[in-house]
Amino acid sequence: MFPVKKKPRKCGENCVNNVADDGISICSMWKVKRKYGENFVNIVADDGISICSLWKINRKFGENCVNNVADNGISICPMWKTKRKYGENYVNIVTDDGTIDLRVISSGGRGTPKSVLLNTTNESYLFNCGENTYRISCSSRLDKFSKTENIFITHKSWDNIGGLHGMALSLEAAGVPKVTLHGPTGIETVTRDAIFFAEGCRIIIGRQQPWMTTYSDDNVNITYVPLLPVEKEQFHNPSKNISTSNNSDENTNSNNVCQDSLITSEGASKSSTEPSSPPTKRKKLSVYMPLTDPDCTYAYIIKPHPRPRSVDLSKCASLGLKPGPLIGKLKNEESVTLPDETVIHPDQVLMPKENPKPILVVECPNEDYLYSLLRSEKLSECQGDNDNSAELVVHMSSYDMVNNPQYQQFIQRFSSSTRHMFLHEKTSTLSLTAVLELQSNLNMLNSTIFPQLHIPKQQIEDYKSENHILAKPFMKYSYRPKKIVSVEDCLPEDFEGKTRDQIAGDINIMKTITDYKELISSKQSTSKDKGSDFPEVVFLGTASSVPGAFRNCTSILLHMDEETNLLMDCGGSLSQLLMLYGDKTDEVLIKLKAIFISHLHADHHLGMSGLVFERKAALARAGMEITPILLIAPVQIISWLRTNEEQFRVNSLKEVLQLVYSQNLMREPYTVPIKNERDPTLLEVVKSKLNCTDFLPVPVLHSKHACGLVITHKSGWKIVYSGDTMPCKALIETGKDCDLLIHEATLQSDMVADAAKKRHSTVKQAIEVGIQMQAKFQMLTHFSQRYKRIPLIEHKQFHNKFGLAYDFMKVKLSDVGVLNDMIDPLAEIFKEDLEYARKKEIDNKQKSKHISKRLGNLSEVLKAV
Ligand SMILES: [Zn+2]
Ligand SMILES: [Zn+2]
Repeated sequence: MFPVKKKPRKCGENCVNNVADDGISICSMWKVKRKYGENFVNIVADDGISICSLWKINRKFGENCVNNVADNGISICPMWKTKRKYGENYVNIVTDDGTIDLRVISSGGRGTPKSVLLNTTNESYLFNCGENTYRISCSSRLDKFSKTENIFITHKSWDNIGGLHGMALSLEAAGVPKVTLHGPTGIETVTRDAIFFAEGCRIIIGRQQPWMTTYSDDNVNITYVPLLPVEKEQFHNPSKNISTSNNSDENTNSNNVCQDSLITSEGASKSSTEPSSPPTKRKKLSVYMPLTDPDCTYAYIIKPHPRPRSVDLSKCASLGLKPGPLIGKLKNEESVTLPDETVIHPDQVLMPKENPKPILVVECPNEDYLYSLLRSEKLSECQGDNDNSAELVVHMSSYDMVNNPQYQQFIQRFSSSTRHMFLHEKTSTLSLTAVLELQSNLNMLNSTIFPQLHIPKQQIEDYKSENHILAKPFMKYSYRPKKIVSVEDCLPEDFEGKTRDQIAGDINIMKTITDYKELISSKQSTSKDKGSDFPEVVFLGTASSVPGAFRNCTSILLHMDEETNLLMDCGGSLSQLLMLYGDKTDEVLIKLKAIFISHLHADHHLGMSGLVFERKAALARAGMEITPILLIAPVQIISWLRTNEEQFRVNSLKEVLQLVYSQNLMREPYTVPIKNERDPTLLEVVKSKLNCTDFLPVPVLHSKHACGLVITHKSGWKIVYSGDTMPCKALIETGKDCDLLIHEATLQSDMVADAAKKRHSTVKQAIEVGIQMQAKFQMLTHFSQRYKRIPLIEHKQFHNKFGLAYDFMKVKLSDVGVLNDMIDPLAEIFKEDLEYARKKEIDNKQKSKHISKRLGNLSEVLKAV
């Protein structure tokens, strides 16, 4: 499997290394040839260093890829990036054993994405990438997407693409230089716009060329099938009748002219087009190209290539063939001539050709698309009993849709041997394993501050029929070699209970928890103050930059009073709300009066659209009037809102949002210039909506337009939120004497230079800000993903007026007394993480020295070449 450490393989008798007259060595080692085909050429320069011209490697790693060939003919790639990742034993030749499986990442239960990953030996293909897709995968420790360079989207909705930016950032971190998106027009625009808001991201986001109707590579052939809403389907294909037609390309009939989607008839009618062959010429008269229609939903037909045929050795023996290069040639489907002039054709010695059956991925977003689904010729070719009958159909349509009689009709048209896998909202949501384990630990420490999470169970029974499969997170369908469904990686429904039992069995952890509880109860018995229920700060996301297994991106919910909630940043909050509040999520959303966005980095605002529309739906469910939510954000957010409106065709953002630019609410001396004059009435609007006496965005030292927030409530409390910033004088001045400071602490105290480079704070700097501000208490948050369950802090050096934020943590002002005492038990429970972080720190320092030395050597070698 790629990427794994492999011992160099001996090539055996079939290995032949022909050296041509021009000194170019052509490796005919059968494994390599089988994989890379005839184009595999290994050029060995005079100095003995082989420069790999293998198109695939070059395409991926660029011109700097150097391929050393060891004496045994096996090429070892010393490319520093790859080696750094996979270690010294990395061998560049991967044996493709033909294994193919389809893994459910998440099955679409409420608040979770619908996403599957098709794995071959060398590549993986992701289908849909809703919010949390990457988190679930790294939480499960199953697939890390490092082989994923192609992502396929069915329908353009936030549910399917909300996780693309996070995925792209994570793929970049895994060394993937480019990711290609396939699917509806505009998905790449949304993703590029989202990534634009990320810090220093360089990954290239591509999309399939508009004239392509098929994606093809060494492993699979994937056909795009357009599904259109009924009016368009009827308009462009008025007389289409699947029962009488066998021509799969008929729907690109050139009689149908549409002026807004232009492409030549040559380009449109190709059933398979290589990326390198664009339409040769353009004509004035163009045809309607359904795949480029903004309303087009994509279904996919995945057809794996047949495996190379294996040799029947008994037949070889009977024909007088001995093991050696001739058998290798026959295996490559070439005829050979024996010394006695007998010509042997591959069919004489090879097993019969395999006919891999297709896998379909289908989403019918609403009833408008049923007409097109039922009339699709390409899909109908996979129905019934024939050589092309589908082996598996992955249904990504909603529960109601798959139960629609017309959709059922579509299902019934398939062969009785076709299997159907269903991903929809009634499936299990049990997927974020790391989060559940962590919360169980924390809940045992303090069940008020860390409440149990709501994980909706599967809402319908498993299907009785063997061919109908209700998807579960991590379920695996083995396509080759065995056609079986495996649920061994799925989590047991009582996963949470088992985790708790596990913790309860650990004597050391239990002692730490008991000691902490005793300490707290003795403190609480001396304090008579029960405290108010409000304000309550709820941390929904406490990570910086990208979502990780244990922490989501920044988002803080402030319950200001009985009727008023404010969300401070929104880097992916809806799924967190559902996990924390379960059935009460609607109530929380209805009371959500405003969202404050501190700045336009992706980890602080990209969850907003989904949340705002879910709030609208919650109001509708409660039979309440749709009132707009206040969005207080930098003026530059307007371009992101426009992208949303254009790409998702939502004209209704104005209906659900009342936009107030934070620059408008700033006050002297801490202001930034704005185009128009400040409107003092806006502050009154915000104050009255949030029942506060002051609401003050303060410019801070981070990205352009970043601000913190100082908020003072009618009942007297004052809370300060830093957003992302270096230590900031303006925030210290305006936040003076606050009851609670929520401050970012991205990096550990000794990483001052790294923090300054990205304009963030270290733990020590954040605490010093709190001291200067004379904050009564402070919570540290926005931790780098380099720390897992606990950041590296040398907290004994500091005072005891601070606590560490965790996702799903609820903090009232009356609780803060117990939070600092919690750090010691946390450090004890997660001591492995601290040890790991310290070890990694030392390793990183050594590695960076080593890499700079190796890079120096490599550049010398390249100069010589
Ligand atoms: Zn951030
Ligand atoms: Zn930031």
